[in-house]
Amino acid sequence: MPYQNFTGKFGGLIIEKKPSSADIKAKNRQLIYHFIRENTSVSKQDIVFGLQLSLPTVTQNLQYLVEKGLIDNSEKIKNTGGRNATAYTYLPSARAAIGIYMTEHHMNGVAVDLLGNEMERIRRRIQFNLEDDAYLRELGALVMEVKKNAGIEDEDLLGVGIAVPGLVSDDGESVIYGLTLNFTGKTLEEIAKYIPYPCQLCHDSYVAGYAEVWESREIQNAFYLSLSNSVGGSLMIDEELYVGDTHKSGEIGHMIIVPHGGKTCYCGKKGCLDTVCNAGELDRYTDGNLEAFFKLLEQGDHRAHELWSEYLDYLAIAVVNIRILFDSYIILGGYVGAYIDDYMEDLCRRVDERFPFDDKAGDYLLPCKYKVEATAAGAAIRYVDEFLETI
Ligand SMILES: [Zn+2]
Repeated sequence: MPYQNFTGKFGGLIIEKKPSSADIKAKNRQLIYHFIRENTSVSKQDIVFGLQLSLPTVTQNLQYLVEKGLIDNSEKIKNTGGRNATAYTYLPSARAAIGIYMTEHHMNGVAVDLLGNEMERIRRRIQFNLEDDAYLRELGALVMEVKKNAGIEDEDLLGVGIAVPGLVSDDGESVIYGLTLNFTGKTLEEIAKYIPYPCQLCHDSYVAGYAEVWESREIQNAFYLSLSNSVGGSLMIDEELYVGDTHKSGEIGHMIIVPHGGKTCYCGKKGCLDTVCNAGELDRYTDGNLEAFFKLLEQGDHRAHELWSEYLDYLAIAVVNIRILFDSYIILGGYVGAYIDDYMEDLCRRVDERFPFDDKAGDYLLPCKYKVEATAAGAAIRYVDEFLETI
């Protein structure tokens, strides 16, 4: 076997296998596929010049991709002089994935294509209850409905990601911490009993954060702060999730913000960020309706303004702490993150007042891109990503 030995950065011996011709072939195919994906529609010459590959290599791979139904070659590129060249066009819906997000009161399902575009979205109000077979059947029915409405064939479905408000084992097979809804220990086999496709469980904050930075050119390092009925987070380093040694990385909801006299958190401790920045701190004032809260706030309601100001102060402290630790972008997501665009200036000012260095929050603090169903979309995107890496 052709091995290459050299000493690694930290002194250890690194043994690296030289790429085989099959590896190179696969790599070229990937390069060509991604080139077409990024440029939407290109000629063979564009690929030859763009990637500096030989014509036979490009021809052979294009043929393969057409046969697999991943690109289209039925159109011509209109040319002013000479022959019209064949257009090789990306087919985003050649494959698709489904993502489900189960929360206390809802079951949300989306289908996404290979570009991460939402093909279908269904939101259903239903009480979370994994002990009830009818609930599990409903979950299976939701997947089938999303799939049917999105027009996805069995052979084109990459898989179903199931996001839960809890921590999940590395292999996506079981829930290792589901305290908010009391479902620690539940397995994928039990949960996905009525879903006849490849499935995996995912931690909600992780996949929501992943959806936000996925394919973003400017963001390599980011902390995603999820401000929903509970507060969570996830850390992306070099565009990869950092889950930590025991899968609790980013559990920012339990960072202590009010050390003296704080409210009791669902984790049992006092003064956690969750107790001051969960969406309930705001929408308790409007009977659980967050939209109504922000409407009142917009109309200048005094009490809404007080609650919001207090909320922003705590959020600013959290942002400062996160920025100090990671020196990265910070993305505000979740239910509250979806409304925060109009209040970014105010929040940035509160952050800057507390921050010891020159960095301006306006340069690193961002509202989320996905205003709805980031979590379900993220659960699906993990399958898309896997597919794109192995084509
Ligand atoms: Zn806590």
